[in-house]
Amino acid sequence: MARGTGKYKVACPVCGKPLFTSATAEIDDICCPKCRTRYAVKVETGTLQIRENELQYSADE
Ligand SMILES: [Zn+2]
Repeated sequence: MARGTGKYKVACPVCGKPLFTSATAEIDDICCPKCRTRYAVKVETGTLQIRENELQYSADE
């Protein structure tokens, strides 16, 4: 049985709601179903990054 080592439990840093568990993920925009805060999440082997999307993009392309 795998013990799930190397997987991260990603939880909303604002309200603590668990979002998902994964060993690897790259998500530009995930919305917490509880507090509606939006995040970008990147999970790679050994690292987890989560940051809040403030939706202040400039759209000059
Ligand atoms: Zn939340």
